[in-house]
Amino acid sequence: MIIQLEKDIDKAFVDQIVDKLKSLGIKVTPVNTQQGNYLIGISGKGFDIREVGGLEGVRDVHRVSDDYKLVSKKWKVKPTEVDLGDGATIESGGLAIMTGPCSIESEEQVDSMIQHLVKNGVKIMRGGVYKPRSSPYSFRGLGIEGLKMWHEKAKANGIKIITEVMQVSQIEPMLPYVDIFQVGARNTQNFNLLDELGKVDKPVVIKRGISGTIDELLHSAEYVFSGGNEKLILCERGIRTYEKATRNTLDLNAIPVLKEKTHLPVISDPSHGIGIRKFVEPMALASIMAGADGIIYESHEVPQKAFSDGQQTLNYPDSDKLIKKMQATYALRKSLDLE
Ligand code: PEP
Ligand code: MN
Repeated sequence: MIIQLEKDIDKAFVDQIVDKLKSLGIKVTPVNTQQGNYLIGISGKGFDIREVGGLEGVRDVHRVSDDYKLVSKKWKVKPTEVDLGDGATIESGGLAIMTGPCSIESEEQVDSMIQHLVKNGVKIMRGGVYKPRSSPYSFRGLGIEGLKMWHEKAKANGIKIITEVMQVSQIEPMLPYVDIFQVGARNTQNFNLLDELGKVDKPVVIKRGISGTIDELLHSAEYVFSGGNEKLILCERGIRTYEKATRNTLDLNAIPVLKEKTHLPVISDPSHGIGIRKFVEPMALASIMAGADGIIYESHEVPQKAFSDGQQTLNYPDSDKLIKKMQATYALRKSLDLE
């Protein structure tokens, strides 16, 4: 159960409501986010909703049977819209395009990538400055200095930055230079990181864990939301299965399933999802038809020379073509009235 409280509710009224809930045998957790105040009630047995609904300071009471509550679609009338400013939004039923290299490598690269984005009307640039690598001897990113350089150039061009944060201590130094924090697949269940991201006033993309279920992804989002941050986006990026022909198995099923379960926007990452350059395009287009609210994919001026993930990265001409095809696919989806 979610008890939505009035925004400026007096502490005395909150205490009264909590006491009432406890007397009904309901376990209560208060949640205060940047946008609202809630009490999450867990109860084994049913009760008459009017016993709580009429109390002073209660805005609304929602019965949510799912284990995750605040990210559930069952209570929120309007889906979550993440507005980054400068016309960049990520919202249910939209098509947010994000592209850039796997790793930010140099100033020259950032310049040329920004040109590529501006030319195509793409507003969000991806890139890692802290890279989770399987081998400690691989390139691990330019770090905070690289992020500052990137931010300066992106800001000058109205481009928003999405980049991965790998640990709690990185959040604060990164905060002024980031528009969206990305939680990588290896950190989906790093609950300390999720708790801390609940405290920041910046949107967060949570990628699905490498072997994570849909339910686990939703629970990870519940951590950030209940920690205080409602600006959340979920990302299907492929899971590890027994299949060896591709890097991962992009779980297209997850897109409509997540859209049914949550009010959060759902995006797809076909680059990591399949891991093979020439199949990024069909998987991006399939993701859009499956209902994705955005696509994040890797591109690079010379993919063969990329410091990481070159095998799944598009060059500029292919990226140009993909953007046009994604827009056409999105228009087709809308015309078919699939959502
Ligand atoms: C990335 O986006 O480059 C990345 C490392 O993603 P993931 O966490 O999905 O592997
Ligand atoms: Mn990558």
